[in-house]
Amino acid sequence: MQTSALYLNGEWVTTSTTRPVLNPATGEVVGTMSVADRARVAQALDDAHAAYPAWRALPAKSRGQYLHRIADQLEQRTDEIARLITLENGKPMGQAKGEIAMSVDHLRWFAEEARRSYGRVVPHQVDGKRHLVLKSPIGVVGAISPWNFPLVLAVRKVAPALAAGCPVVLKPAAQTPLCAVAFAECVHAAGLPKGVFQLILAPAADVGAEFLANPKCRKITFTGSTEVGRLLIAGAAETVKPLSLELGGQAPVLVFDDADLARTVEGVIIAKFRNTGQSCIAANRIYVQAGIYDRFVAALVERVGQLKTGNGLEPGMDVGPLIDQAGLDKAVAHVRDAVAQGARLLAGGEALPGSGYFLPPTVLAEVPAHALCMQEETFAPVAAIAKFSTEAEGIALANGSIFGLSAYVFTENLDRALRVVEQLEAGTIGLNDGVPTTSNCPFGGVKQSGWGRELGSEGLDAFLETKHVSISLSSGL
Ligand code: NAP
Repeated sequence: MQTSALYLNGEWVTTSTTRPVLNPATGEVVGTMSVADRARVAQALDDAHAAYPAWRALPAKSRGQYLHRIADQLEQRTDEIARLITLENGKPMGQAKGEIAMSVDHLRWFAEEARRSYGRVVPHQVDGKRHLVLKSPIGVVGAISPWNFPLVLAVRKVAPALAAGCPVVLKPAAQTPLCAVAFAECVHAAGLPKGVFQLILAPAADVGAEFLANPKCRKITFTGSTEVGRLLIAGAAETVKPLSLELGGQAPVLVFDDADLARTVEGVIIAKFRNTGQSCIAANRIYVQAGIYDRFVAALVERVGQLKTGNGLEPGMDVGPLIDQAGLDKAVAHVRDAVAQGARLLAGGEALPGSGYFLPPTVLAEVPAHALCMQEETFAPVAAIAKFSTEAEGIALANGSIFGLSAYVFTENLDRALRVVEQLEAGTIGLNDGVPTTSNCPFGGVKQSGWGRELGSEGLDAFLETKHVSISLSSGL
């Protein structure tokens, strides 16, 4: 099997150290990836720094044209790259194609948004003064992405950074580097100048340490666990390195008595089971009001029975494998803990025999508040449901978490909808909507779900500095 190369300063580089890439559906090795060391990360930052002046000097429209060309490449290679995503991550092919479509949309959105990174002319307060507020790129960016959406979460960082005029060194997750290599091929084919985008895989702690310590790296953008986010925050104290952090979630769902049942069930199915439940915005705690509770549970269990679990390369699959044995063990432990504490198991709950890390869609009802699956991010296709009575109680339950990435509300009552969304502590809220993420609106968390926002105009702003220029005129007017 050919070893996949790193993309460094415009060259394809293989290393003597490698690591296998496994298919979570079969346990088979599907690739071998080059692994560099910390010194090579430092070299990549040097090369990015050298590429910076020419890249930032390009008109935003020209940088945008490069992004459109990368998007064209991705689009043309959709089937092949979707297959790679499924092979290394496990998600069903249809969802992998959706991930590519969203990546293309992010690239095209930021290609255009770069042209709108306006500064301001601020009216003066004193005769003889004028004030300009300028936006300028922050500099070389170190980006670290996770395995669960291995392409789109990398693109969500790379596209706005490049659009803003910042070179990027990307470190993908060790479990899913192959689609990042395919992305680097798209960048290469799009003709970006050398050093503007680089792909490196090296031991994660070394990459983090180098990004934090190296003065040529001016910003770190990270998506992953809150645990690693805390490490980066601690490390950044030394150099006051700016960080954007997209961290863990534990999304609540509030289903009110006045919800449209069919619409709600479809919304919860997608919010819970898309990406095999391995999504930072996955519905983790489903709170249902007493008057609709029994009907909702019955309808959800019936709908879950129609979902197909299996190898994502086979047609018609809805749910794939979990990423690895640890992910499967955690999910099964959460189910057993909930049942031991009195929850009713209504579907799934046991790992499938044979190879691969499969847990069929699982439904638990009457889950007590102290069960692990109500306290922690389960990151698996486990729907944990509990009952509530009043609107105030529902809101208190939803907000009762250290996380605040996303939340979902299902109601047909406009007054209630607005009251509830105003009180929910979450960066993204799906109101009767199970898929609340879109290129043109900000995405990110409150509380311990992170710092900053990706996507939307805020996503570009994350890579821009604000500079005030105060001008004194010789005329004194
Ligand atoms: P993770 O263990 O934090 O890994 C994420 C990335 O960080 C990987 O590239 C990993 O590299 C790297 N990493 C690990 N240790 C590091 C260190 N000491 N310094 C620098 N980088 C380090 O998270 P995960 O388990 O892959 O991903 C799942 C988590 O991500 C969940 O909590 C999920 O909610 C969160 N997430 C959040 C969002 C969001 O937008 N808020 C989106 C998706 C996922 P290696 O792979 O080489 O170890």
